Amino acid sequence: MRLPDWLAHRAATAGERLAIIAGDVRWTFQELDRRAASLARRMVGLGVRPGDRVALLLPNGPEFVELAHGVGRAGGILVPLNTRLAPPELAWQLGHAAPRAFVYAPQTEPAARAALARWAQEGQTGGEAASSEVAVLSTEELASAPEAADASLRPFVELEAVHSILYTSGTTGRPKGALLTYGNYWWSAVGSALNLGLCAGDRWLANLPLFHVGGLSILVRGVIYGMTAVVHPRFDPQAANRAIDEEGVTLLSVVATTLARMLDARGERPYPPSLRAVLVGGGPVPVALLERAARLGMPVVQTYGLTEAASQVTTLPPGQALRKLGSAGRPLLPTEVRIERDGRPAGPGEVGEILVRGPTVSPGYFREAPVAAAGRDGAGQDAASLSARRDGGWLRTGDLGYLDEEGYLYVVDRRDDLIVSGGENVYPAEVEAALLAHPAIQEAGVVGIPHPEWGQVPVAAVRLRAGWGLTAEELLAHCAGRLARYKVPKEVRIVQAPLPRNAAGKLLRSRLREQWLEAGAGGGGRG
Ligand code: ATP
Repeated sequence: MRLPDWLAHRAATAGERLAIIAGDVRWTFQELDRRAASLARRMVGLGVRPGDRVALLLPNGPEFVELAHGVGRAGGILVPLNTRLAPPELAWQLGHAAPRAFVYAPQTEPAARAALARWAQEGQTGGEAASSEVAVLSTEELASAPEAADASLRPFVELEAVHSILYTSGTTGRPKGALLTYGNYWWSAVGSALNLGLCAGDRWLANLPLFHVGGLSILVRGVIYGMTAVVHPRFDPQAANRAIDEEGVTLLSVVATTLARMLDARGERPYPPSLRAVLVGGGPVPVALLERAARLGMPVVQTYGLTEAASQVTTLPPGQALRKLGSAGRPLLPTEVRIERDGRPAGPGEVGEILVRGPTVSPGYFREAPVAAAGRDGAGQDAASLSARRDGGWLRTGDLGYLDEEGYLYVVDRRDDLIVSGGENVYPAEVEAALLAHPAIQEAGVVGIPHPEWGQVPVAAVRLRAGWGLTAEELLAHCAGRLARYKVPKEVRIVQAPLPRNAAGKLLRSRLREQWLEAGAGGGGRG
């Protein structure tokens, strides 16, 4: 199915409205449309043909926005790379994506150069060798690249076509390049609007990385709705609060840690009624944090989503936030959610794997199927289903949760992070939430480590807020009052350094487990 190009449509219907605010940059939809078209002609001039991948290594900013809309208009597929990756990781993704063009920024130039050198040096497995055909250029070079006079830009979007390839963080093994189609983004935007509503004057703050689905989907939603996206270069709690108070931001997306930092920076000052909804997701959200936000009049709504489903799968309807505190909401309209336990549908309240089906679910991972069929120009548009993770159209998320009687989803944890201790299930998120209920604790991470008697036991690393002194024993006593015995960490270590997190601020439990095991015994207080 074809739709008129979203951005061109907005330029025609709401041309004077602001599309982007990024620092001093303010672009109307008309201006953004003009820039996207110009960028698309430059892409064609660089040799980008329909189906070619264009990789970006860029921080959040107007250049990212221009590329996010311009690459597709030339028929290219956007491959935004994570700016926090190390050169060998970037080299692997470059080899895998085999882009026709690769754009970096002044800040990312050293990493880009190192990654390119590495890609050139090594034969890539599962991907393609570095080729001299790749146009490598900085944002400045791109700005002055000539436009192809004869470029024929597509005036429509094809819902089945691939819009972008987003590499998942690859917490287990190699990252996978999730293909997201125009249709995936379209239905995600529609579902989100049907839940949150659309208001004239809405402004969505994008202060999470634009290379993640959470950030990128704000840009796409913005042009579909005709809504302003306010782009911050990085997450800064003061700047986020200021954008709400002074820049008219009505919507924003956060993860638990960034939400906590915004509240810490806020003090007791309530949020203005213009703030319509704060979507918090990406990982477990302690109920105490939701309550704290609610006390300041912040309309938090929990959401559950993943890259492979183009962001939100379920989101609380704003009016239900307090009644259903702790729930991630109901599926957005075109999406279905099912819980499966031991191969059969789970009943209300029964924990099992979360399965998702619907038009927001990715058609597959890039190069999962033989690329030969699609060929380079086909860019794997029809590449593979999500193979093992896809079952009768249902995506197996690897997450555990349950639905209540009213069909509201409660996400419990990741299946891979589940700790089985003496036959009992321990969900690290639950233990972390109990620790975080202590006012002294800034961050808490819980992982399972091998134990000769119980198989596995939970252990915790915590970082204290400045000015607090607390012993591991006191923390264990705090847990003992809140958790069943088998859930109480066997050891708590008080650490000084921030816990390992990915660019979106998500706790990397596998890294934490490695750090724990490397540090060995005796690293902290014993329980
Ligand atoms: P990878 O899949 O490679 O490990 P990732 O976890 O960063 O990478 P994303 O697609 O960015 O992948 O994140 C999706 C995951 O985030 C979900 O599968 C789930 O584990 C977690 N998540 C998202 N929302 C929630 C939520 N409300 N509660 C608990 N966990 C959540």
